Amino acid sequence: NSFVDFRDVWLAYNEELLAQNHFAVEAIDLQVHQGEFIAIVGPSGCGKSTFMKLATGLRMPSTGRILIDGQPVTGPLKISGMAFQAPSLLPWRTTVDNVLLPLEIVEPHRSQFKQRRDEYQQRARQLLQKVGLGGYEDKFPWQLSGGMQQRASICRALIHEPKMLLLDEPFGALDAFTREELWCILRDLWTERKFNVILVTHDLRESVFLADTVYVMSKSPGRFVVRRQIDLPRP
Ligand code: ADP
Ligand code: ADP
Repeated sequence: NSFVDFRDVWLAYNEELLAQNHFAVEAIDLQVHQGEFIAIVGPSGCGKSTFMKLATGLRMPSTGRILIDGQPVTGPLKISGMAFQAPSLLPWRTTVDNVLLPLEIVEPHRSQFKQRRDEYQQRARQLLQKVGLGGYEDKFPWQLSGGMQQRASICRALIHEPKMLLLDEPFGALDAFTREELWCILRDLWTERKFNVILVTHDLRESVFLADTVYVMSKSPGRFVVRRQIDLPRP
């Protein structure tokens, strides 16, 4: 009973590339169980971002089948949250208002969002507190360090309580100390809530520290060549 289920998935980015048998990823078979934390490592250009686009329904496979939470993927998924290397907070919004953004988008009616605004504000502030941003809720992005902005972007990815969190090199731009601090914060949030995580990283140490399973993708076209279960005792 997999949460993420890729069966023999191939993707060529357009018809011309398809005609030339030029695939960005090929023969991807992957099953991730409910609540599992996986990491994907591999060289630049091997197809990691492509895999993420497929897992969130931003791209449809050329052939093969993708099920997420038992459902065939037919378009962009609302059940996922995402964070990238650049925190990309909106500069004209405070920290808490940046975190609230996905709720504004996911909420089907604007009036409903307004009605529940206090409750959502509360939720956002609690989450910010948890990642050590208490006291910074009403600051603007330029008043925060890179690491603090990245914490806020992780809160933004989690505010609508997604079943799946996708992280593309989220700690790549941070210094070693901040990075390890954020590893622990992410690990705590995940332990508490048990959402699925797919983490793309260049940092093997990071993948081993955080993930239950590490997948290694070969150079282009991407294929998973190694799957390694991690069973080190972790904090
Ligand atoms: P990674 O994230 O591992 O760096 P990508 O998934 O971005 O790799 O890229 C995989 C391959 O697909 C690369 O050869 C890249 O040039 C190609 N590619 C990525 N996006 C596109 C696109 N929009 N159109 C055509 N080719 C693309
Ligand atoms: P990263 O490896 O950090 O994901 P890239 O520089 O490989 O970033 O890609 C940046 C963006 O450009 C991605 O959204 C990717 O899909 C797109 N891209 C990458 N390669 C190509 C390509 N050959 N043709 C068109 N778009 C591409």
